[in-house]
Amino acid sequence: MRRAAGLPRWGALRWAFRCEHRVQRFLGKVTDLITRRDVLRLAGVGGVVFASGLARISPASSLPGQSSHGELSPSPTEDFYFIQLSDCHWGYEGAANPRAAVTLPTTIETINGLTQKPDFIVFTGDLTHNTDDPFERRRRMREFERLVSKSNVKKLYLMPGEHDAALDFGSVYQSLFGPTHYTFDHRGIHFIVLDNVSDPRGLLGEQQLGWLKQHLVRLDPATRIVVFTHRPLFDLYPDWEWSTRDGATVIEMLQTFPSVTVFYGHIHQEHHFMTGHIAHHSAKSLVFPLPSPGSKPKPAPVPWDPAHPYQGLGFRAIEAEAQPPAYKTTEHALV
Ligand SMILES: [Zn+2]
Repeated sequence: MRRAAGLPRWGALRWAFRCEHRVQRFLGKVTDLITRRDVLRLAGVGGVVFASGLARISPASSLPGQSSHGELSPSPTEDFYFIQLSDCHWGYEGAANPRAAVTLPTTIETINGLTQKPDFIVFTGDLTHNTDDPFERRRRMREFERLVSKSNVKKLYLMPGEHDAALDFGSVYQSLFGPTHYTFDHRGIHFIVLDNVSDPRGLLGEQQLGWLKQHLVRLDPATRIVVFTHRPLFDLYPDWEWSTRDGATVIEMLQTFPSVTVFYGHIHQEHHFMTGHIAHHSAKSLVFPLPSPGSKPKPAPVPWDPAHPYQGLGFRAIEAEAQPPAYKTTEHALV
């Protein structure tokens, strides 16, 4: 029986091991996709070194999150960092990124070359580009799986985006990767992964909200929480479906916890917002940028600029500080 909170640790490890034997077979295929020129162009992200002091990108990313209960949070004993990748849209073929087959494998290579390994990588949805064909959907997810299994960071956490899950209510995704919402603990931080995409209306739904409510009441009120999700939980721009219909209920449930930070994807650009003391940070995409909220009639991809390929694309490193609870985020561009 599949447990709602099953993917973490065991799930991630089992998933990584399952993938490993396929890696070598896929390597040759990926190599064919990446030209030497592409690798050189992307080499600019290869020199990333994480030292103790990562730059703060905004005050919102480093809230102290002090306990309103006057209790000590079950905080990490030491700093660590993880990487957020988002919106790779594997399988995308279009003018907005003629090199869409390059950015993900090269980013994985880049991360493999880091001198200081992240504790884990989280991929906040839209692993694949949508397709009406369920066989093609499965094929794209398997390719994605093979590709990211090249990572030498073996703890990988996934969640679907609407491109992966909205057309079949997450059926293919779940058959390959397991539950779409779950929790895990890492070094004193409680991580909650929420699915606001499998329901094509863009909401969590009563069942998941009920699960979340039951889950939260069992936590110590001082628990330090990080939420990963695909869509923004707040109304960033509902006309473009940059919102979660029942996201306000989730935010309300989380307000009682002293330190809550949300990392999400979907909007293909950085965005930082506060709801009360809860910070929300969106990540860049690995395939194409989207316009800023409401700046265009439609959220069509920003056109590819041959003079500045990979402009607006990137990934994020997040350093979780032990005390006081804070997150330092560093954005890495693909160049
Ligand atoms: Zn999306």
